[in-house]
Amino acid sequence: MIPAAFDYVRASSLEEAIYFLHKDPDGTKLLAGGHTLIPTLKLRLATPARLVDIGGIAELQGIQITDRVIRIGALTRHAELLASNELREVAPIFSRAANRIADPQVRNRGTIGGSLANADPAADWPAVVIALKAELELVGNGIRHVAARDFFVDIFTTALEPTEMLTAIIVPRPVSGMRFAYRKIRHPASGYAILGVAVGIHLKDGLVADASIGLTGVANHAFEGRVATDTLIGKPLTTANVEEAARLLSENTECLSDHYASAAYRASLIKTETRRALLEFGS
Ligand SMILES: Cc1cc2nc3c(=O)[nH]c(=O)nc-3n(C[C@H](O)[C@H](O)[C@H](O)COP(=O)(O)OP(=O)(O)OC[C@H]3O[C@@H](n4cnc5c(N)ncnc54)[C@H](O)[C@@H]3O)c2cc1C
Repeated sequence: MIPAAFDYVRASSLEEAIYFLHKDPDGTKLLAGGHTLIPTLKLRLATPARLVDIGGIAELQGIQITDRVIRIGALTRHAELLASNELREVAPIFSRAANRIADPQVRNRGTIGGSLANADPAADWPAVVIALKAELELVGNGIRHVAARDFFVDIFTTALEPTEMLTAIIVPRPVSGMRFAYRKIRHPASGYAILGVAVGIHLKDGLVADASIGLTGVANHAFEGRVATDTLIGKPLTTANVEEAARLLSENTECLSDHYASAAYRASLIKTETRRALLEFGS
């Protein structure tokens, strides 16, 4: 449980962190909250030559809300997303999901950027940012924006290049009438998601005008539940329509199987929890 030797640098700016990434992309690891990286080093699952601590970079911090977008710096901690009253007013799903992450110790150190970049298939934020139709800002080879639904590529694998870092999460400010829900079945030991489903619904004249679903915990990576939202658009949110959408989503997902939850159990959770999340908006 002792990491291999590494150099440690505390980056004071984004430019400095990017400089080190470009200098040695394969031998460098960024350190945010350290909640995943430190255990990974201790188990020697990663043996980087250099750790670049990004914790002091001011431009990666904080939550800014404008008329059009919510911009969340990559270093924003889960606890800040839970505590922000301003954020709760415009997008209460952040506090709802943050409150389901592990325990106060984890929430006080873990960052949303670290969680997204790490792409643990059981992490909560990936489902939430997909449902919010967020864009992720990646800096390193210039600046590019990747839709959250395209960011998660495989288990612990994202669209990030080795010379890039995630700097911010940019969420379109939810329009009036758009409502979100997050439901999660937690692993009893770690708190990670066996299933997490984030749902956004906009009802207009009794019909679904817009819908979005993000899922985590059930497959190799978080994904968008398009098969369900496509079937809901333009219809009333009746129990029958919701059940049909949830059934399609469950049947069209290739679920993970592990010693705690079989693929069949996860498929069943997709059906029941998606249904429950959608019915929170009334039938
Ligand atoms: C006991 C325990 C329980 C947990 N339970 C949950 C849970 O219920 N739900 C949940 O969602 N999470 C859970 N977590 C994970 C935790 O919430 C952290 O979000 C997660 O560990 C990563 O965030 P971090 O800031 O600690 O990142 P770090 O550990 O510092 O980094 C993780 C990885 O991301 C890379 N990285 C970090 N920041 C960036 C960036 N800005 N750009 C590019 N790459 C970057 C690092 O190089 C590293 O590879 C748990 C963790 C622990 C230890």
